[in-house]
Amino acid sequence: MALRKLVAGNWKMNGSRGALAELDAIAAAADGNPGLDVAICPPFTLIAPAVAAAPGLSIGAQDVHMAEKGAHTGCISAAMLKEAGARLAIVGHSERRADNHETDAEVRAKAEAAIAAGLTAIVCVGETEAERDAGRAVAVVEGQLDGSVPPQGKGDTLVIAYEPVWAIGTGRTPSIGDVGEMHAAIRGKLATLLGAEGAKVRILYGGSVKPDNAAELMAVADVDGALVGGASLTAAQFVPIIAGAASA
Ligand code: PEP
Repeated sequence: MALRKLVAGNWKMNGSRGALAELDAIAAAADGNPGLDVAICPPFTLIAPAVAAAPGLSIGAQDVHMAEKGAHTGCISAAMLKEAGARLAIVGHSERRADNHETDAEVRAKAEAAIAAGLTAIVCVGETEAERDAGRAVAVVEGQLDGSVPPQGKGDTLVIAYEPVWAIGTGRTPSIGDVGEMHAAIRGKLATLLGAEGAKVRILYGGSVKPDNAAELMAVADVDGALVGGASLTAAQFVPIIAGAASA
């Protein structure tokens, strides 16, 4: 079953208000391709200004706390994101799993909090280079899914992003065959975890998606879009990726 593609940009800790000028052309590309979904996840401080600057575009967050409120200095709740106008939240990005020691259980709790607040959770999984070299890539990702997929996830509230850690920001990507093998394995695991609903959950590929490889990657079976880091920072790079998704 072909699912509606989603192309989501993760600005990470980049961008100031001036960067919002990029949203004009990105929103225009989204409007021009009504058959797919486009989202940008800027830093927390730019969520509300981004929503104001591009009301038609889906704006998301890069993380969310699992608690509703309370003594969690420096953290942001799902309700706060919702109030700021966010529609999505990335959880479990490999940079947060590594830098902030986030566990699968925490990632699942964050996804559950996001969904409970009416956000779509993008749950990130992916193996390290050492794990792939050891032939463990699929087993590692299946284990992450076992631990971090929220059982209440549905096609319209949950997205999985497969992001091999060694492909992020490196200009390297897995072979098309390896991407296909992993996405098929993820689809199978989602069926086990979520039953029939698992067929409706979109699976994004992420890791060095660029204008020149986007269409090929997104044409692979069970690749239902892309999560894009560096190339989402400018419309000049991100708009061709949206076009690649539309043609895939
Ligand atoms: C990411 O970190 O989510 C990512 C995919 O980064 P990049 O596109 O820069 O590899």
